[in-house]
Order: sequence, then structure tokens, then C-alpha cells
Amino acid sequence: MIIFRTKRIPAKHYDAINIFGMLFVHPGVLLSEETINHERIHTRQMLEMLVLPFYIWYVVEWLVRLPMSGRAYMNLSFEREAYANERNLTYLKTRKPYAWVKYLRKRTKDNK
Ligand SMILES: [Zn+2]
Repeated sequence: MIIFRTKRIPAKHYDAINIFGMLFVHPGVLLSEETINHERIHTRQMLEMLVLPFYIWYVVEWLVRLPMSGRAYMNLSFEREAYANERNLTYLKTRKPYAWVKYLRKRTKDNK
């Protein structure tokens, strides 16, 4: 994963953003293996959705989840998959294509 250290991207209150598989990170932010794995999971999601539809789906799902309980961002299927598996550093080796789809459903015991 290509990592760029820059003050301007992302916006102020965010540490990092993954744009087309490139990670933009503020200069002082420490990147853990888990964070890099989290972003790699997003890159895999992007690639299997042919990139642009990933961003469209991300925004539409966020808008749909805004009026629902909890933080819309944390309830996004893409984020739920990434957070649930970021500590598993070999996750991408065994991940099935479109694994994020199962995170669209309501929470289960293995899908927190
Ligand atoms: Zn994320």
C-alpha cells in the first residue's frame, strides 16, 4: 500500500483516508499494522466493486444509515467488515469476494 504523509489530506479531524488504494495520513499519526490491514481490506472492497461504485455505495449506505441508531459510519458494511477483521493480519488471504455483503445484515455474534 502506498502511503503519503500530508497535512492537507484528510480533513482536520481524521487521521487517514484511503483514496483509490493510496493511504493519505497526517504527518504525526502512527500507523499500526491493524490500521494498515483495515485500509487494505477497504482497498480489496474497492477493487472488487471496480472502485467508483465502492464510493457511491459508501455514501448512499451512509445516508441510509444516518437516521438509524448508532453512528452511521460505524454501521457501514464496509467499515464493519474492516473493523471486525483488522486484527486478523492474514484475513485477506482467506477472505471470500464480497465478504462485506454479510455485514449489511443486522448484527450477529461474529458480526459486531
Ligand atoms: Zn475504515
